[in-house]
Amino acid sequence: MSSFIENPDVILIGSGVMSANLGFMLKQLDPSLKIQLYEVTEEVAKEASNGWNNAGTGHAGICEMSYTPDRGEDGEVNVDKAISVFEEFLYSKLLWAYAVKEGLIKDPKDFVNPVPHMSFVHGQEQVDFLTSRFKGMSAHHFFSEMEFSTDPEKVKEWAPLLMDSRGSEPVAATKMNGGTDINFGSISRKLVEWLGKQPGCNVATGQRVVDLNETKDGWNIKAKDQVDGSISTNSAKFVFVGAGGGSIQMLQKSGIEEAKGYGGFPIAGQWLVCDDAELVAKHEAKVYGQPLGAAPTMAVPHLDTRIIDGKKYILFGPFGSFTTKFLHDKGSFLDLPLSVKPNNIVTLMQSGLSNFPLVQYLVGQCLQSMEDRMNVLREFYPGAEMAHWDLIEAGIRVQAIKKTDGKAGIVHFGTEVLTNEKKTISALLGASPGASTSVFVMLQTLKECFPELLETPEGKAKMAEMIPVFGEDLLDPANEARFREVDLEASKNLELI
Ligand SMILES: Cc1cc2nc3c(=O)[nH]c(=O)nc-3n(C[C@H](O)[C@H](O)[C@H](O)COP(=O)(O)OP(=O)(O)OC[C@H]3O[C@@H](n4cnc5c(N)ncnc54)[C@H](O)[C@@H]3O)c2cc1C
Repeated sequence: MSSFIENPDVILIGSGVMSANLGFMLKQLDPSLKIQLYEVTEEVAKEASNGWNNAGTGHAGICEMSYTPDRGEDGEVNVDKAISVFEEFLYSKLLWAYAVKEGLIKDPKDFVNPVPHMSFVHGQEQVDFLTSRFKGMSAHHFFSEMEFSTDPEKVKEWAPLLMDSRGSEPVAATKMNGGTDINFGSISRKLVEWLGKQPGCNVATGQRVVDLNETKDGWNIKAKDQVDGSISTNSAKFVFVGAGGGSIQMLQKSGIEEAKGYGGFPIAGQWLVCDDAELVAKHEAKVYGQPLGAAPTMAVPHLDTRIIDGKKYILFGPFGSFTTKFLHDKGSFLDLPLSVKPNNIVTLMQSGLSNFPLVQYLVGQCLQSMEDRMNVLREFYPGAEMAHWDLIEAGIRVQAIKKTDGKAGIVHFGTEVLTNEKKTISALLGASPGASTSVFVMLQTLKECFPELLETPEGKAKMAEMIPVFGEDLLDPANEARFREVDLEASKNLELI
């Protein structure tokens, strides 16, 4: 039988990277806060944040061409989103570097390692696109160290596998050494472990939150012990729903007006993984390509160096696959059907119709053979041989579908925080850029629901320690020196340089 903090100030549902960052920042800002975390799995951060369930790219806008799809009237690629994502990711780096520097968590190499980020294209049209993208990106101080080449020999030097057995069509690549590979499961576990040891805080695993009801000054929740089935109750002034794929279900149970009409559409993933030592030694980059056909932006293929538990692999994917489960480990095939409610059925149906190419894409993905998948890999690594690759399951992304999209019903690929009017419950929906920008995203929840913590002199001083550039405009070229100063300090603390 688990013990809990009774009537805490804050209840966190889920132990992924979102709850981990939020819990950590809250307790840092106000050490007197009582916090109870509930996690349905026996171990912490085993769902989407777990190392093998995501690609571990520290999304900083460097290599993801899906963040820069638009070209202006002059034909130049618009790089604004890449610049914002870079800044958002910097917040994560700064917070985790603070935690290491203060000795609150240890061994940064367990969760973050330097890996160059590359974009790679072939064919003249794509080469022109990347040329323009590079021009826009390298003009900003965030990306001034980016290199670009259309020379096959240079690309081969950067990433030999890309050029192995490749024909003579034009190629182009960008490369920046400031990229990272991140084990989001590991950083979550370190932060949650720290939180669980603080006075007034508790982390209860094997506990599924099964119900939540609004009271006049907060929320009552019910949790079910996954071993003996016993039900416990608790209440708090504030609940954060960081349940990943399970967030939609939790919001539906909460009954809050703001969640009405929301639905979720799960997309499961798969990776090709290679641990052949000779090949792994030849690839030292995260290489992102262009989306294939109707593939959603989050299914853009990439050939990645991946570091998990100190061992290096090459990962390729993701491949999409169909599922009706919202959670990989503790989900049920009834999750999708049971999430269909009178208030979202119309949105869901409209969404299915207006996103028909996506549905077709997923069906196509499910019907793929191993040889089909190898052929996609050969777009990147033409000399790839099947014997070196295994197919494994990745995590599930539950894409939020919301009523405010009107008749069309759009499947959202971004990350969104949904908060009720009373600011007593906040939930994280969506998946991308996801874990990389989790600190920035959780700061939105802090600003909305705990503004007082950021306004006191103590709160301001703590924020200045945790995220020294909080509230500063680092995009402004006048602040380039400031950016370089904090980035260098964080990179040193995280042992990235
Ligand atoms: C295939 C794939 C590739 C990705 N690649 C990247 C990438 O390269 N870079 C990047 O930044 N992001 C990536 N992401 C996105 C990233 O993984 C997620 O945005 C992030 O992990 C979400 O964290 P979370 O805390 O919201 O959810 P999760 O990590 O899923 O945590 C939610 C937790 O809540 C628990 N839970 C659920 N319901 C309940 C309940 N009722 N009671 C108690 N506990 C509950 C779950 O067990 C889980 O532990 C990827 C995702 C996928 C699926």
